[in-house]
Amino acid sequence: MALIESGDYYRFIEELNANVYVNGKKVEKLLTHPVTKTVVDATAKIYELAQDPRYEDVMTATSHLSGEKVNRNLHISRSTEDLEKRAEMALLTSQKLGTCNYRCVGADALNSLASVVFEIDRDKGTSYQDRFNRFLEEAQKNDWAISGAVTDAKGDRQKRISEEDPDMYVHIADEREDGIVVRGAKLHQSGAIAAHYTLVIPGGALRPGEEKFAAAFVVPNSAPGLTYITQYNPYSAEREVCEDPKELGNPRYGQRETCMMIFEDVFIPWEHVFMCGEAEYAAKCITRFAKIHRMNCGGACKVGYADIIIGASMLASEYTGTTKASHIREMLTEMVRLSETAHAATIAASVKGREEPEGSGIYMPDDLFGNVAKITTADNFWKIMSLAGDIAGGLVVTAPSMKDLKNPETGPYVEKYLRAAAPADKRLRITKVLQNWTAGLHGPGTWHGAGSPQAQKISLYRVTDWEEKKNIAREIAELEE
Ligand SMILES: Cc1cc2nc3c(=O)[nH]c(=O)nc-3n(C[C@H](O)[C@H](O)[C@H](O)COP(=O)(O)OP(=O)(O)OC[C@H]3O[C@@H](n4cnc5c(N)ncnc54)[C@H](O)[C@@H]3O)c2cc1C
Repeated sequence: MALIESGDYYRFIEELNANVYVNGKKVEKLLTHPVTKTVVDATAKIYELAQDPRYEDVMTATSHLSGEKVNRNLHISRSTEDLEKRAEMALLTSQKLGTCNYRCVGADALNSLASVVFEIDRDKGTSYQDRFNRFLEEAQKNDWAISGAVTDAKGDRQKRISEEDPDMYVHIADEREDGIVVRGAKLHQSGAIAAHYTLVIPGGALRPGEEKFAAAFVVPNSAPGLTYITQYNPYSAEREVCEDPKELGNPRYGQRETCMMIFEDVFIPWEHVFMCGEAEYAAKCITRFAKIHRMNCGGACKVGYADIIIGASMLASEYTGTTKASHIREMLTEMVRLSETAHAATIAASVKGREEPEGSGIYMPDDLFGNVAKITTADNFWKIMSLAGDIAGGLVVTAPSMKDLKNPETGPYVEKYLRAAAPADKRLRITKVLQNWTAGLHGPGTWHGAGSPQAQKISLYRVTDWEEKKNIAREIAELEE
């Protein structure tokens, strides 16, 4: 049963008793709350896509552990073709959901950790890899949705980890015969509320003396001591009060929903611990995670979102009757150029990927192109948003509610005065889509998701071969060293 159906997943959610809070209130059932339901529905859609023969090649892979067909979200990339497919999955799921594939961070953290446990065992004679593979095989067999927890609360950014309150970083509070006890909080956790497990890895590089922060482990949803506090914003409020989700910008799957995930002395048995105190490997773990995630979440995923924005912008211009105007065509073309430039960098990152570390059989994207993909996406996404806002006109922020269209008192006015080259209903619906993308959460979300761009600029400076470039210039100038 390596691929489960969405019905199996909904049954898991029905039985789940997670400690989730939205807007100051405990959520009784994830499926009955309009905001948390979007996370469940989006995760269920990932199961459906994996069952769909049209997407089999992208959404599934062959496990190197069992030889069975498994969900690609649980696959460890073993070739550049795998990397390409992984990026394609990010693109496809964004197009289909208009929100996160909530298993994406987990997928990339699994890949990073797979390479790191290989190295720890090789260098130190530990047996993390066996333990990790046992868990992974079980996860693949049951098709568990695994979210990825990387970003710590961090507190005052000027302070070193050891100078802050230790709870600002998830850490080992106690080591027992049967496992470890962890404390702290991970923030901005995409989809963790509706995952079967969360994979936790260190959020940054560590120095000697910081061993207690070097913890990588999986934790099942609702483990004792876990609390989830979800994000809350005007879009959450709008969803709570709306009578028909069709009135919203992304009716079924909503916003990218994240939460604070608080670990209050959570017990993790040894079989779920994959790093315990090996501080010198934290940098490798986070660097490799970033390398993979920048290609997928930073690059490919946002190209899928851009496809939605570009399609909606084209429709908006058809509905208002501006498509033939040269400046509108120019803006639409520019949006494609901006998006596909990021797409090209993503493809380059996968094609130029290589085995890392040598002998592990695990493939990682090219660091230079992965960073370029993320920075290009971050920059270009704002521009795409602004062009869409231009094409859509003021209505994108001034539109009345769909309820005004349905109200017999106001409906005829809305119908009459908001008709253009298409009826008011169509215009309002596509305007809501564009409002969601241009006047909502997606600008900062895309900027910071997969890491703030300054981190990628530092990486890009580090991975660039400056000597090679200087030599090229010297040769042209016929300059002796
Ligand atoms: C929509 C969304 C989904 C996400 N999903 C996940 C997820 O599923 N799992 C997960 O683990 N994380 C997730 N993240 C977290 C994401 O990786 C972080 O937001 C990102 O790494 C930036 O961290 P931060 O938000 O703490 O911002 P900060 O680190 O506070 O950065 C804010 C600004 O301060 C600067 N800055 C930060 N520290 C320093 C410093 N020491 N010195 C100088 N400048 C500094 C940064 O460059 C940036 O300009 C998500 C984020 C978003 C927006």
